[in-house]
Amino acid sequence: MNTKTVIIGGGPAGLTAAYELNKFGKSSVILEADQQVGGISKTVNYKGNRFDIGGHRFFSKVPYINQVWGEILKEDLLTCGRLSRILYKNHFFDYPLKPLNALTGLGLQEAIAVVLSYAKTKVWHWGIEPDDNFEQWMIHRFGYKLYEIFFKTYTEKVWGIPCTNISADWASQRIKNFSLLEAIRNAFSNSGKHRDGEIITTIIDQFQYPRLGPGMMWEHCQRFLEQNNSPTLLGEWATSIVHHNNQVLEVITKDKSGNKTSFSGDQFISSMPLRELIMCMNPIPPKHVLDAARQLRYRDYLTVVLVIDREDIFPDNWIYIHTPKVKLGRIQNYKNWSKDMVKNPRYTTLGLEYFLWEKDEEWNWPEERLIELGIRECTEIGIIKPAEVVEGTVVRMKKAYPVYDLNYTENLEIIKKYLGSFKNLQTVGRNGLHRYNNQDHSMLTGIYAARNIMGSKYDVWSVNTEKDYIEEGEVSTPTTMERMTPLSMAQLLSLGECARVVLDGL
Ligand SMILES: Cc1cc2nc3c(=O)[nH]c(=O)nc-3n(C[C@H](O)[C@H](O)[C@H](O)COP(=O)(O)OP(=O)(O)OC[C@H]3O[C@@H](n4cnc5c(N)ncnc54)[C@H](O)[C@@H]3O)c2cc1C
Repeated sequence: MNTKTVIIGGGPAGLTAAYELNKFGKSSVILEADQQVGGISKTVNYKGNRFDIGGHRFFSKVPYINQVWGEILKEDLLTCGRLSRILYKNHFFDYPLKPLNALTGLGLQEAIAVVLSYAKTKVWHWGIEPDDNFEQWMIHRFGYKLYEIFFKTYTEKVWGIPCTNISADWASQRIKNFSLLEAIRNAFSNSGKHRDGEIITTIIDQFQYPRLGPGMMWEHCQRFLEQNNSPTLLGEWATSIVHHNNQVLEVITKDKSGNKTSFSGDQFISSMPLRELIMCMNPIPPKHVLDAARQLRYRDYLTVVLVIDREDIFPDNWIYIHTPKVKLGRIQNYKNWSKDMVKNPRYTTLGLEYFLWEKDEEWNWPEERLIELGIRECTEIGIIKPAEVVEGTVVRMKKAYPVYDLNYTENLEIIKKYLGSFKNLQTVGRNGLHRYNNQDHSMLTGIYAARNIMGSKYDVWSVNTEKDYIEEGEVSTPTTMERMTPLSMAQLLSLGECARVVLDGL
């Protein structure tokens, strides 16, 4: 099969690249390993009940991304109000934290401990110890106690490694220069505004959401592309990237039955995980590149979905579970995202989120055992009664999170340099750039890659959804490598906002 542009992966990045190429009248072929499109942003349909991998808010500061979402889904894109709280030691903490609610929840003793621990940090540590990992970065700004309550347990549940082994990049990328004093000042002032006067709530307290979940967006996009001569071929695993003289010549895929197909083209875009991409290069890359790729790590993710015979369980879209005694990290309530996500309005569907490594014992547990675990833990924290559970199912998502460990930047640099030598291969998206991102970032990288094929010269690695305000036909190009900052300091004016930024992305 001969096509001009071959795209690996039918997630937001790959599909948006094809969508943008279509705007220039260029067709492409998208090779998707899964049996449906959307990648991590797909929607799973279980007997008419729909659920996400997590919960996918559609929110972007980039006007062109909002335009594309509108073009694809039109009136099926709902505006959704947000409510989410933190459950810690049987108390629901408002989110963002409110002083009175936080004080009652923590109790006077723990509240005093928070302040003393912050004072201790200020006097003894800050400025002496380097911020060389996530834990130190957080302690230096919030004190140990507050960090322990609101960040440590949950962050370690998500990443599965001690916070001392997580790069400080992770915190600085998301929070920047923020401290407890500033947090308290803003929590009390309760202005709802940033220092520069920008209102926070409209940005984060409302988001858009497709009526039938995020997958609806990507299925519509797939259909549109299909009608415009850019098909997505499902069940096609890219297993070999054949190249010669710094040019990719073809991608070879394998289907479920082991049948191989070759796709040749002039241009290639890949959103498959970087580690796999490097392993698929044929001829194989030099040893130091292979070694760097092998060291990239990914956190895996599993959802236990329970159908509960109760109309209303809690009002939140999701609840963070900071309680250390359960493995459960977060609970989604899909009905509160869109009522059409649940088949029978008498029921509620809950998504219990577990963050695991593929090698963990639980990852391979049979479905019944995982459902049992979910029911037990949800009962333990007082959310449901076992007798209310009608049925359940389990969905696993490998490589849901690219891990920012202490070596990832070094490894990434080596891989980038190697991939940079190819004239017609671009990598895009979350795992394609090993970048912890949201859909809008993935989409933007796909758009840049498509425009590069049309003659532009964007650095896809430096896409920044805070700074790139692209409109149709015009894109501001970052000239230097910038670290992505999904939310700027200007957005972080209360402690709750700060917690939000760290927790939301997880
Ligand atoms: C729990 C959770 C919650 C999230 N919440 C939000 C949110 O609220 N809002 C938001 O905007 N974003 C959210 N995200 C992030 C969002 O899911 C990703 O940013 C987005 O899906 C990335 O798109 P992508 O196309 O880059 O990658 P992916 O979604 O990973 O898509 C890549 C595609 O490539 C395919 N593929 C991989 N290898 C191969 C191969 N060898 N051959 C062929 N195909 C292959 C995969 O099957 C997949 O379909 C969340 C992520 C998680 C894990």
